[in-house]
Amino acid sequence: MTTNSALMARRTEAIPRGIGNLYPVVAQRARNAELWDVEGRRYLDFAGGIAVLNTGHLHPTVVDAVRDQLERYSHTCFGVAAYEPYIALAERLNALTPGDGPKKTLLMNTGVEAVENAIKIARHYTGRPGVLAFSGGFHGRTLLGMGLTGKTAPYKSGFGPMPAEIFHAPFPCPYHGVSVDDALAGIDLVLKSQADADRIGAVVVEPVQGEGGFNVAPRAFIEALKALADKHDWVLIFDEVQTGFCRTGRLFAAEHYGVVPDITTMAKSLAGGFVLSAVTGRADIMDSPAPGGLGSTYGGSPVGCAAAMAVLDVIENENLADRAMHIGDVLAARLDTLAASHACIGDVRGLGAMMAMELVRDRQSREPDADLTGRLVQAAARNGLLLLSCGTRGNVIRFLMPLTTPDEHLHEGMDILARSLAEAVDGATADTAQAP
Ligand code: PMP
Repeated sequence: MTTNSALMARRTEAIPRGIGNLYPVVAQRARNAELWDVEGRRYLDFAGGIAVLNTGHLHPTVVDAVRDQLERYSHTCFGVAAYEPYIALAERLNALTPGDGPKKTLLMNTGVEAVENAIKIARHYTGRPGVLAFSGGFHGRTLLGMGLTGKTAPYKSGFGPMPAEIFHAPFPCPYHGVSVDDALAGIDLVLKSQADADRIGAVVVEPVQGEGGFNVAPRAFIEALKALADKHDWVLIFDEVQTGFCRTGRLFAAEHYGVVPDITTMAKSLAGGFVLSAVTGRADIMDSPAPGGLGSTYGGSPVGCAAAMAVLDVIENENLADRAMHIGDVLAARLDTLAASHACIGDVRGLGAMMAMELVRDRQSREPDADLTGRLVQAAARNGLLLLSCGTRGNVIRFLMPLTTPDEHLHEGMDILARSLAEAVDGATADTAQAP
């Protein structure tokens, strides 16, 4: 029998360590919220391929749409021979993204490409190079993506020089003492000490920071950003790569804030496991670059478009927005119960099903406990639950299970979480006991 460890040994020889592997689990097959490894062990998948599987592994509607597309053609390159799935998806995203005015959509492959293109378009439209981004933000790993990302190790360290004209301001995080006023004062400082407002063309923000720790932007902050963008003619870009497609209980997180961005970037759950990203924005902005200024050989692949159309059908037909609110309620209740008996849970927060818990050494000092977080992720994997951590301090456990996860699997996973947390805490006690 092929084993996880044999394959991981081959992986170590053949693949750079820079691509991390969280746990020694090698997938064999998966369906909805369940995954089986090559040794036949079953896991509940609360990681969802990092927010890609809001509609679950291999949703039958998505599989049918992809199969149907593969009977026709797999690739023409949209710039060479156009195809209807791209056009139909663009029309649908133009209608579904926040904002009533005319919009246009560019399709690409990955999340970071969507963000890069949003910045390119905003720079072209405004004629200004500067971009305002936020500490703790994550926008991808290409050169521009790294530059925009607000976390050094492991994303930026050693990879410089970073692209110019990107300025970071603090993102509000009340739990760690950064208020909305502090964050706005940070923007003010950037404008006073680093870049005139009329040198900045775009501001890019995640309404709920994903990799940064599931930090939910307070409404006052998003409203203030919108007011600043209006005042200084900045293009307001919402990076909804992780928050999109009902994760937060609305199709887009922007809908919680009543603020309409000029551009929305999307990827991950857009195509339910197939490669696709999108940039949708105000038509006048999107039309700024000349023909040939935008594009990609594979961007908006027919298979990705077919999958995305099916994903949007599933979201509507199975009412995944409401389902996300329900999952969020279940998670909040289960995590609050867990927190009542575990002082290491310092904070439970989130929006809709985009829930997380922050692990600390002490509730008073709120000192992050990244070691415990790591032990919990490992213990959970041993017990049959795939979990992800996040956070600039590496001490947040985030939940990204499919929104199609049945309640039974939801509770089964939370039971495993409780057991694994107890083991991880005991692990610390055992370690301390053994220390000389
Ligand atoms: N933006 C956000 C908000 C993300 O969470 C991510 C991926 N975690 C990206 C951009 C980059 O996406 P990709 O890895 O597909 O390039």
